Amino acid sequence: MVSEFFGIASQPAGRTTGQGRGVAVRIATRTIMAAAIVAICTATAMPPVEWPVHGGTDLEQRFSPLDQVNSKSVNRLGLAWSFEFDSNRGQEATPIVVGGVMYVSSAWSRVNALDAATGKSLWSYDAGIKGRVGFDACCDVVTRGVAVAEGKVFLGALDGRLIALDARTGKEVWSVQTTDPKKPYTITGAPRIAGDKVIIGNAGAEYGVRGYVTAYDIASGKQAWRFYTVPGDPAAGPDGAASDEILKKAALPSWFGHWYDYGGGGTVWDAIVYDPELHQLYIGVGNGSPWNRQVRSDGKGDNLFLSSIVALDPDTGAYKWHYQETPGESWDFTASQPIILASLSIDGRPRKVLMQAPKNGFFYVLDRTDGHLISANNFVPMNWATGVDMKTGRPVENPAARYTDKPFAMYPSALGGHSWHPMAFSPRTGLVYLPTYKFTMMYGNDAGFKYRPGLWNNAIDSALLEAPDDPEVLRKGTAGFEGRLVAWNPVAQKEEWSVPHKSLQNGGVLASAGDLVFQGTGDGQFEARAAADGKLLWKFATHNGIIAGPISYQLKGVQYVAVLAGYGGGFGLGESADKPTLRPNGRVLVFKLGGTARLPFTPQPIPPLNPPQETFTRPQIDSGRLLYTQQCYRCHGTGAQSAGVLPDLRRSGALNDPATWNAVLIDGILEPRGMVSFKPWLTPAQVEDIRAYVAHKAQIAAGQVKP
Ligand code: CA
Repeated sequence: MVSEFFGIASQPAGRTTGQGRGVAVRIATRTIMAAAIVAICTATAMPPVEWPVHGGTDLEQRFSPLDQVNSKSVNRLGLAWSFEFDSNRGQEATPIVVGGVMYVSSAWSRVNALDAATGKSLWSYDAGIKGRVGFDACCDVVTRGVAVAEGKVFLGALDGRLIALDARTGKEVWSVQTTDPKKPYTITGAPRIAGDKVIIGNAGAEYGVRGYVTAYDIASGKQAWRFYTVPGDPAAGPDGAASDEILKKAALPSWFGHWYDYGGGGTVWDAIVYDPELHQLYIGVGNGSPWNRQVRSDGKGDNLFLSSIVALDPDTGAYKWHYQETPGESWDFTASQPIILASLSIDGRPRKVLMQAPKNGFFYVLDRTDGHLISANNFVPMNWATGVDMKTGRPVENPAARYTDKPFAMYPSALGGHSWHPMAFSPRTGLVYLPTYKFTMMYGNDAGFKYRPGLWNNAIDSALLEAPDDPEVLRKGTAGFEGRLVAWNPVAQKEEWSVPHKSLQNGGVLASAGDLVFQGTGDGQFEARAAADGKLLWKFATHNGIIAGPISYQLKGVQYVAVLAGYGGGFGLGESADKPTLRPNGRVLVFKLGGTARLPFTPQPIPPLNPPQETFTRPQIDSGRLLYTQQCYRCHGTGAQSAGVLPDLRRSGALNDPATWNAVLIDGILEPRGMVSFKPWLTPAQVEDIRAYVAHKAQIAAGQVKP
């Protein structure tokens, strides 16, 4: 286990690490690697510990072996430096630190290379994403990070390109379009390295796409293989891809109806993990498209490989095994959440395990040699299932949860008991630390569903998602929602401790050998807690919500802890707040013991409410409410109340001016900023109905009319 403490130890064989220190490790076996580390430690007395891959090491445990910052010293932790991004959109990236350089991606697919000790900019890169691409991103224009290998920095750009940059200069080395630009695909996930290949997935299953992962040659960008996660139209024949055989044999028989007209879904939008110990690649497959299985697959079938973890041969993309967490997915239940690899002692014998806490609320421990389910238990309260049948590996469902006869208020739901926010595993405590969410959502069959290309197509009855006008009723309805940091024992499958947060969305987690757990919160605190019992030991006001996962690294004997601040994401955009919080641009925050840097912050006023002095008819307001719920709330906030990432429309200057309102919604004058024209989907009369609804909400907030 000790070798897992060092980033260098779990590099795949054949990869050069320790660059810039005169240390080149290119060794074939893990045993020899461990020996090499001992030698390095002895020679320098201080192992070079950076953050070379997305999850810290290839096991993606997000555990730092550094202990300079610990429960005794953490009270001296202070800001070492900060770096300002140029966007107030969500910042979800995990930085990579290699050779003393931090490579960090930010909203709108930008990359910065910074001196990891000082924050000095070395180069910056902008992928030049067009504003309208932001409309194809279900959950903000985010990126979760880059990969660095062989002197190149790899970025999955929002518009579907995979771009290789020269790590020294930031200049493009090669770029490939990994998706069909005519379809609403995006990329938000971090690429991963497996030997001489870089692997990337994609997103878009809310709109209607078919998921896949692709491997490209690191040196040339040439495609090595592609694996589709769901079958295409059988009439179109095989894809000529690595997935052809297994899709025909195992997946196709589990699909019904005309799913291929809607893409089917199954995008691999976050978790991809390369396992150097077993030379396997694990991919976390997303939800169905549309969500509603009644529409997608005639209401039957497991729909492989939706909501599954699939193991592939990294050389060829060939299928090895799979485990489906939510057969017949119908709720946006993805298996895309972060995957952690570890060795655990279970019933007295060591097991190579894979751990995941996906949206459906069950914590899974699998034997990663063959995908066999070792154990599962719910880590959040749930009403959609009562447990997992250990004989079949399937959830024991509450039949009402399928919303076939009538709607069902379900938890966890589309936002997940846990989503992409990174979790961490400490081999010292044996606990997994994860940010969790209790959030209830209404699901109902959209009986009149019609596929509309370019829009959300989840086939859920939007009328059920309408927010009540009365802020008090809305507050009561959401009173049970809660964000919580949970310390989970994966062997006993039980919670050891947990702490509630003020904000529902709480950020990713880092565990450290200093027996600390670092986590940021949606309301702008960066916290360190005792790994053993969750006691709060240190906090820092960041003036901006944190959702990303922290990292730690050491340079010249100094331990740094870094995290991105910048609120947003799917949660943040759709969130409802009586008063929006002004969201400043995101930034990198880096801490060290004795750090004394000041964090610049100038509070700015929130624009005032702008209620028109007009009277709207009730049918107009009601029509606008439904249209707003169908088209607008995911970005501008539930009930026309924004949490502040994107404009709160009750405060919009255009609200009093039908012509400007129309120019934005129909003529698309704000497209460069991501607000596309709704002309293909809305009539001018409908656009005016939406204005009536938002105006009504502004009038309520201003006390001019009663809810
Ligand atoms: Ca989804």
